[in-house]
Amino acid sequence: MTSASPLLRVDDHDRDFAGMRYVYPVLSRRAGGVSVGINLNPNNACNWHCAYCQVPDLVRGAAPRIDIAALEAELDGFLTALVSGDYLVRHVPEGLRTVRDIAFSGNGEPTSAAGLGEIIDCVHRLRVRHGLAAVPLRLITNGSLLGRAGVRDAITRFGEIGGEVWFKVDGGRSEDFARVNGVRLQPQRVMRNLAECARRCPTWVQTCFFRWDGEAPDQTFVDAYLALLEGAGIGLLRGVLLYGVARPSMQPEASRISALSGAELEAVAAQIRKKGLTVTVSP
Ligand code: SF4
Repeated sequence: MTSASPLLRVDDHDRDFAGMRYVYPVLSRRAGGVSVGINLNPNNACNWHCAYCQVPDLVRGAAPRIDIAALEAELDGFLTALVSGDYLVRHVPEGLRTVRDIAFSGNGEPTSAAGLGEIIDCVHRLRVRHGLAAVPLRLITNGSLLGRAGVRDAITRFGEIGGEVWFKVDGGRSEDFARVNGVRLQPQRVMRNLAECARRCPTWVQTCFFRWDGEAPDQTFVDAYLALLEGAGIGLLRGVLLYGVARPSMQPEASRISALSGAELEAVAAQIRKKGLTVTVSP
């Protein structure tokens, strides 16, 4: 904790705010409170390179070995301050002094961490011990590692303890994944991974749409995206969280990216809804 007790800014995603390695608070006016973030990638390493990624100094790679005892100590201390101490009063503006969720959402792909199941169990134990069992537990993932038995088992466990997955899908064709996510990937693989995930744990698709060199996604792009969701199985999915690019990319591609208008995102959302899915839009 900092001694100066600065107020958390809205949408402040500074991983170092509380001086911890794995745990960071995020204040979100949109969510109406504090999200407790768990960053399993303090090395800024991800197996993808999304053009819009907000991680500074992003490198290719996997999560480092996680010191689970250190993570447990950090989270236990932070939740104690949050739930039983005066953290909210000291750092959070009135009206936002509530814990909205606990989210595995860091500076890279969390499912690349070895021992993910054990980490999930540790976080769940603390969540229950601090009386936060009703607070949503989320795993934000690019979903690319569902081919690993350990990741599949961890996601099953996540579902059993009441967690939900936000699974990134930003397009529907290999060329879209290459440009947007910086990865070689076949749509059939994404469909398989998404269906596999959704069968094991409640799963929302998280999608980011934006202009590239001034051009909005054309209908062919949107059709391929919709076909991918249908291929995975509309009935398996909780819905779609459709995002624009509210915050600037920290990647070299930043200059090629610009935001779609709220109306343009709503037009895409309408097409997704026609497929039978719930959609929330965050321009
Ligand atoms: S998957 Fe997430 S962390 Fe990885 S590059 Fe994309 S936005 Fe960044």
